[in-house]
Amino acid sequence: MTTQGEFDLAVPARLFSATPSRLMSWLDCPRRYRFVYVDRPVPPKGPPWAHNSVGSAVHAALAAWWQLEARDRTPAAAARLVREKWVPLGFRDDADAVAWRDRATEMVERYVGRLDPYDEPLGVERTVAVKTSRLALSGRIDRLDRRGDELVVVDYKTGRHVLTTDDARGSMALAVYAVAAARTMRLPCARVELHHLPSGEVIVWEHSESSLERQLARADDIGAEAASAHAAVAGADPDALETAFPPRPGPQCGWCDYLAHCTAGQAVAPTRHLPWAGLPLEIVSSVDDVVD
Ligand code: SF4
Repeated sequence: MTTQGEFDLAVPARLFSATPSRLMSWLDCPRRYRFVYVDRPVPPKGPPWAHNSVGSAVHAALAAWWQLEARDRTPAAAARLVREKWVPLGFRDDADAVAWRDRATEMVERYVGRLDPYDEPLGVERTVAVKTSRLALSGRIDRLDRRGDELVVVDYKTGRHVLTTDDARGSMALAVYAVAAARTMRLPCARVELHHLPSGEVIVWEHSESSLERQLARADDIGAEAASAHAAVAGADPDALETAFPPRPGPQCGWCDYLAHCTAGQAVAPTRHLPWAGLPLEIVSSVDDVVD
């Protein structure tokens, strides 16, 4: 206890800085986490993924579309932006890259055709942050809407997996964004939405205070594990690295950028998936097929 005339020398514990994707990376596989966040230089990754090329172009085009004057936010402008942002990496061949560019263009055109261009979002690719007792969490929200007196977190999805309410409910990232957005903007935020562009579906989840708290506690626990692994290897030898960041082999190994450096992963996934294997199988081609 500090008495009068003495200084309290207790130093607050340093917060561990993390994003939701960093925490999920730890959860998926500590060894892969190590390759990304610990090893320097970062080991060479495998070839680029075509689904990442599609996702990047779509996200970049949508962000740029919202930067236009509202009167210029047309489907044709969105199509032009996808073509401008397009990087043809990871596709089977040039013809496939062009076909996918055209499919991504149609997908974004169709999506923005259903938006009100004058309904200005509160944020686009907006960075938000929140502190817990152990973590300094931050992340970038694809789109933050204000609807009435409440905020809504919107996350664009372009992957092949059909999404369900469980994906929105169970997403730690979306929950962290909701809490961080509410703190940053000083408005309530309980609703999170996944906008799946290939199908046109919007998956919605309304969080309660307790479900947000649970997700934040989960983030805290994962962050604490990762932080103690970092602490265990500060200045230590390679054996300590192996122990602190163990491999967690599983179905994800076939998608791992570092499979070539990991014998544990190779035992369950002898070869990496083809670079275009993650592309959506189908894209809904008619607005009539779209489910709200
Ligand atoms: S190959 Fe599998 S076990 Fe190895 S680092 Fe990648 S995800 Fe982890």
